[in-house]
Amino acid sequence: MRRAYNSVLRLPQTSSCPQCSAPYMPHRVCPACGFYKGRQVITINALA
Ligand SMILES: [Zn+2]
Repeated sequence: MRRAYNSVLRLPQTSSCPQCSAPYMPHRVCPACGFYKGRQVITINALA
């Protein structure tokens, strides 16, 4: 039973992106818009 509880603790924590409000992993670049810490780190080819 405790093993199952450990899996709960290991759920990936997500935050809402301030740029696009999509859920993203903290300390990771937002996969939706490519923003990280208020600036764009990677370019998402979605504007075409
Ligand atoms: Zn985003």
